[in-house]
Amino acid sequence: MLATAFEPCELPPQADALRQEIRQFLQEALKDYPRADRAHSWMGFSIAFTKALAERGWIGMTWPVEYGGGGQSALCRYVLAEELMAAGAPVLAHWTADRQSGPLILAYGTEAQKRHFLPPIVRGESYFCIGMSEPDSGSDLAAARTKAVRVEGGWRVSGTKLWTTNAHRCHYMITLVRTTPGSQRHEGLTQLIIPLHSEGVTVRPIRDLAGESHFNEVVFDEVFVPDDHLIGTEGQAWQQVMSELAFERSGPERYLSTVALLAELLRTVGPRPSVAVQSAIGNLVAHMVVLRQMSLSVAAQLDAHRDPALEAACVKELGTTLEQRMPELMHTLLDVQPSLQGDDDFARVLAYTMQVAPSFSLRGGTREILRGVIARGLGLR
Ligand SMILES: Cc1cc2nc3c(=O)[nH]c(=O)nc-3n(C[C@H](O)[C@H](O)[C@H](O)COP(=O)(O)OP(=O)(O)OC[C@H]3O[C@@H](n4cnc5c(N)ncnc54)[C@H](O)[C@@H]3O)c2cc1C
Repeated sequence: MLATAFEPCELPPQADALRQEIRQFLQEALKDYPRADRAHSWMGFSIAFTKALAERGWIGMTWPVEYGGGGQSALCRYVLAEELMAAGAPVLAHWTADRQSGPLILAYGTEAQKRHFLPPIVRGESYFCIGMSEPDSGSDLAAARTKAVRVEGGWRVSGTKLWTTNAHRCHYMITLVRTTPGSQRHEGLTQLIIPLHSEGVTVRPIRDLAGESHFNEVVFDEVFVPDDHLIGTEGQAWQQVMSELAFERSGPERYLSTVALLAELLRTVGPRPSVAVQSAIGNLVAHMVVLRQMSLSVAAQLDAHRDPALEAACVKELGTTLEQRMPELMHTLLDVQPSLQGDDDFARVLAYTMQVAPSFSLRGGTREILRGVIARGLGLR
């Protein structure tokens, strides 16, 4: 049987000073940001906040300086991500590009693509979304049917992408398309960077359980995409997508997206909570500490250009399981009626978290799929 490769990982010496600097910045930048809105975590959207982060050099902070990046280690970015999540900062505008689209372009893009696409991301001006899921092809990505047909100077793309977070506010979608007619499963897939203002693109909002419409259906009707927007190797996108998913699945947002609820609980119970509350908090925090070590280990492996797909799947699966447990546990502990209305921040954060929690084990890969990845990675299947 194989084993996972989680290794102890220390933050670099400069991490403490960086953390203090980020905390000071966040205190000022978010001083008027309502506590209940912090429950939206990385799904919160603010161009002003994204631009303020960019001014500090905190977007693309691990990317090479020649593309506008900060040239710092992945563990420094980890500290930043942790502080942003802990504060419930509205990072969605740049989050996908910073987390995975930029690293994908760095790993597989041409020199011209790096010079064209990366600097505007770093400046907080260019936003990306992920075009993988389709109707009938969410978990089973290899069944993707959106097709790109060769034409002079590029491709014509037709098909539909589904559940595309933030597409209505993004400039580009990194889109998984089938470029080899008649190809099956993992073969013949390619990634194209599609400008979403192109003629033939329609973005339609989808309303979720909480009444919000942050994700979309995106229809491509014979959309022209120039040759130089193909990323990586034509027909070989499967491997690219798998490496992108490791970035998507392993960060602190996979166990800190409900931390606003814990913060509200601590504020509500005050310095002398009951033994039951103390014990529940201790239990949650102990789990979070372990998840943090696992997630840090994945960050270090990604930095070392290893392939921690199995470890990333473990972080996401265990992280979302913990996060889904939290609202019910908090509800039981305090017996507060969840409500999206009114002045009680705990009740509002609880109500919001209860409504969105079911999506945690869907977005970024469902629980069943991740367990399949883990079982295969461990040689059990
Ligand atoms: C909030 C949110 C944001 C999202 N954002 C994006 C985005 O930006 N871009 C994007 O591309 N996608 C996005 N998604 C889509 C997400 O990745 C898919 O919903 C997910 O992969 C599941 O696909 P599906 O909805 O088609 O369900 P299906 O694949 O139809 O699955 C339905 C159920 O069957 C189970 N199942 C399927 N196949 C198997 C199997 N082989 N073995 C066992 N069980 C199985 C699944 O686990 C699931 O419980 C988002 C989803 C959510 C909820």
